[in-house]
Amino acid sequence: MVRSGQGLPQDLPDRDVSWDQPAPELQPGPRPNAAGLALPRLKALVAALGEPPFRAGQIYHGLYRMRWTSWAQFSNLSKALRARLEAEVALDWPLIRESAHSEDGSTKHAFLLADGALVEGVHMPYGKRTTLCLSSQVGCAMGCTFCATGLMGIKRNLTAGEIAGQVVTMLNEHGHGPDEAVNLVFMGMGEPLHNLDNLMEAFALLSDPAGLGISPKRVTLSTSGLVSGIQRLGALKPRPRLALSLNATTDEYRSRIMPVNRVWNLDALAAALAAFPLETGERITLEYVLLQGVTDSLEDGKRLAAFAQRFPSKVNLIPFNPHEGSGFEPPTEARIVELCGLLSAKGITVSVRRSRGQDVAGACGQLVRERRS
Ligand code: SAH
Ligand code: SF4
Repeated sequence: MVRSGQGLPQDLPDRDVSWDQPAPELQPGPRPNAAGLALPRLKALVAALGEPPFRAGQIYHGLYRMRWTSWAQFSNLSKALRARLEAEVALDWPLIRESAHSEDGSTKHAFLLADGALVEGVHMPYGKRTTLCLSSQVGCAMGCTFCATGLMGIKRNLTAGEIAGQVVTMLNEHGHGPDEAVNLVFMGMGEPLHNLDNLMEAFALLSDPAGLGISPKRVTLSTSGLVSGIQRLGALKPRPRLALSLNATTDEYRSRIMPVNRVWNLDALAAALAAFPLETGERITLEYVLLQGVTDSLEDGKRLAAFAQRFPSKVNLIPFNPHEGSGFEPPTEARIVELCGLLSAKGITVSVRRSRGQDVAGACGQLVRERRS
């Protein structure tokens, strides 16, 4: 039975779905901020201070390898230079404004940014391997109807420093050593392919062995299906791994819950994913949010399998995380098990995301920083 009531709008949602426009950027403050600058920009900065170019390399090392957070910590620079930097150049990483600890060990942090905006990141320790869930924008322009961030609309892009800074701040806060393996997932607030330039600038700092030194293979970017962005990303090297939020298996349903599908439908999406140049052994993750009575039928399961077979992939089923007023319900346990079985029987690698931090609203799609009236 097709349910067409609550939470399944028939018309375009009354939201800002302007992803074809660039999102606003942070307005620069009175002093330059070194946190997040790439080496060429640091060189320009030290040149403007009348310092020799090698100082830029020392600052780069302090910022990204040592993850220092104040000029006073730059023991590789002279006292005189530190004093000048203190006076003339900001070193502002995102600050933790609030932390909520979940019983499962994960911590949701609210980061305060230079203009007062707040975004969220989640620290999820899984045994030896820690995963950090990162935001890419303040809000999101994509307007998916099941997503709390989507309700905010888009405020602005995060800068490269704000993106890499979530990692720096969380690694420092949780006491991670410089060479500990961490996974990064861009599954927090925002659509990363709507902010690809800043995201790739951050990715360069994060993946540089002389910087944060995180292997590109451990970084996953999740998109709602901006085909133009998928094509741009495919042409970059190195690049993060790709995850696609599929979430529905017919154009009718996908267009209702994810407005982006009205521009690039399932066929256009499958074609872009099949053309995405993969490394040996690399697979595209298909995220699939299970909404009871909307996207969780056994027919959906069969169509999901057929979609997944069109290119090297693995499927991650995500039971819907309820949030106030969404109008959607999570699936039953029995249905999750049935769908897993159905997909496995068709030879598809499938996992279920038991969302962490659910008791503190840090789970996927619950990241929203504004009170709704
Ligand atoms: N904008 C990107 C990345 C952030 S959303 C994207 O859409 O892919 C990260 C994941 O959370 C996506 O797969 C999205 O479908 C899922 N998600 C959003 N809201 C959710 C909710 N309420 N419950 C479960 N998953 C949700
Ligand atoms: Fe944006 Fe992703 Fe939420 Fe859709 S699911 S509104 S793309 S954050």
